[in-house]
Amino acid sequence: MSDNCIFCKIARGEIPSRKVYEDDDVFAFHDINPVAPVHFMIVPKHHLVSLMEADDSHAALLGKMLLLAPKLAREQGLENGFRTVINSGKGGGQEVFHLHIHVIGGGNIPPMVKRS
Ligand code: 5GP
Ligand code: ZN
Repeated sequence: MSDNCIFCKIARGEIPSRKVYEDDDVFAFHDINPVAPVHFMIVPKHHLVSLMEADDSHAALLGKMLLLAPKLAREQGLENGFRTVINSGKGGGQEVFHLHIHVIGGGNIPPMVKRS
């Protein structure tokens, strides 16, 4: 838990969000600035900065979060598939330093990397 972390506050219900899912370990909520018709994030309730700080003790939690992605995506209507994104560290474009899996879909999802 981190006092100044916005996603900790969201997971604790101190900052409102549009909740997608919650259990003892995990919270999922819609992104405030979606890049596609469906865009939500899966976060651990426990404060973990990024994948770069993860170790073997987080294996079960990370597995649980990954397996929630297709389940929650289907519940949100993404029957044809979805994109997952995990930005890790400044070099990975991470802006909120509490680990999160973006789940993105609906509409036209372009190839992730444009090749010339
Ligand atoms: P990152 O770039 O760190 O992978 O993604 C952070 C995401 O968090 C961004 O897509 C941004 O729109 C979202 N975000 C930032 N602040 C809030 C907030 O207060 N509420 C919600 N629901 N999403 C937020
Ligand atoms: Zn946090």
